[in-house]
Amino acid sequence: LVADSLFVINNFARNYFTDQLWNSEEGQNIALSYLEERGFAKEVMEKFQLGYSPQSRTAFITQARTQQFTPELLLKTGLVVNRNDELLDNYRGRIIFPIHNNTGKIIGFGARVIGKAEKAPKYINTPENELYVKSKILYGSYFARQSIDKNDECLLVEGYTDVISLHQAGIENVVASGGTSLTIDQLRLIKKYTNNLTIIYDGDAAGIKAALRGLDMALEEGLDVKLVLIPDKEDPDSYVRKVGAAEFREFVKAYKKDFILFQLEVMLKDAGNDVSKRSAVVNHVAETLSKINKAEDFTKQQEYIRQCSGILRVDETGFTTLVNKYK
Ligand code: ATP
Ligand code: MN
Ligand code: MN
Ligand code: MN
Repeated sequence: LVADSLFVINNFARNYFTDQLWNSEEGQNIALSYLEERGFAKEVMEKFQLGYSPQSRTAFITQARTQQFTPELLLKTGLVVNRNDELLDNYRGRIIFPIHNNTGKIIGFGARVIGKAEKAPKYINTPENELYVKSKILYGSYFARQSIDKNDECLLVEGYTDVISLHQAGIENVVASGGTSLTIDQLRLIKKYTNNLTIIYDGDAAGIKAALRGLDMALEEGLDVKLVLIPDKEDPDSYVRKVGAAEFREFVKAYKKDFILFQLEVMLKDAGNDVSKRSAVVNHVAETLSKINKAEDFTKQQEYIRQCSGILRVDETGFTTLVNKYK
């Protein structure tokens, strides 16, 4: 099967990249020193099997040619690209983040430039193939499952480095969406592990917007969603490094907000005293609450209707009617 062959190639590549990171002079000088400078400990770099792809255009493909891999399959993995009928390495000079499925096998890779991304994109990822289906990937889930069970909670961050840094800080119930846009399939996977989702996105405008976009979907899936906004210009990786593990935990505990009430707060602040804007907020919140439509969540919906109508200063019975109109 194609999938089996892709696993074999990815496994070979993972071994090659980790060997390059730890044992080659180029890897040590360029990549390992960069990762160490960022503060990553040896233990987490090994756990997540970070690697390095050398700068040479043919370093990996030369090794891959010693195996029985077909060019067609090699191209499918995205590890190599075709340039004028020649196969060349795709991730040249990048740090490699292998992406594991739930049994620990490698389904793809993220590859990051070292240092600031000037012209090239900061990250390149595996193209869609039989193993790598972007909308269904939660980076770190293989390493998070036990801790999600134990805590009955899943933390969701944006990036690879956020997951790794939180592990280093002893927080293991964490997965990454791989950027800001959360998909329904990712939420369904989380729902299989736990009902309690805590989104910890970057504190920039893109992070807030993305978090709000995920809310309605998450409610429809029946998840209980909390939100923690990391202070502006930081992300979980940089922030935990800045304040330390203990203070980061305290921060998350103290600033964990109910997502629906948070959304209401943001929109009311935007609306100010403008009557038509405020009425748009009332409608929007009613629509959001209508998404809590699972039978078992009826009391939860009632409680939200009570709290939100209070905050909005509208009649609770009328507001209930409005919510039901959206169903
Ligand atoms: P770092 O700390 O190394 O700069 P980051 O995770 O903080 O990485 P962000 O810019 O916050 O980087 O992006 C969050 C996540 O979005 C990344 O980890 C990656 O999964 C994804 N991502 C970012 N840029 C790209 C890109 N150009 N192409 C594909 N995915 C990307
Ligand atoms: Mn960001
Ligand atoms: Mn970062
Ligand atoms: Mn980030």
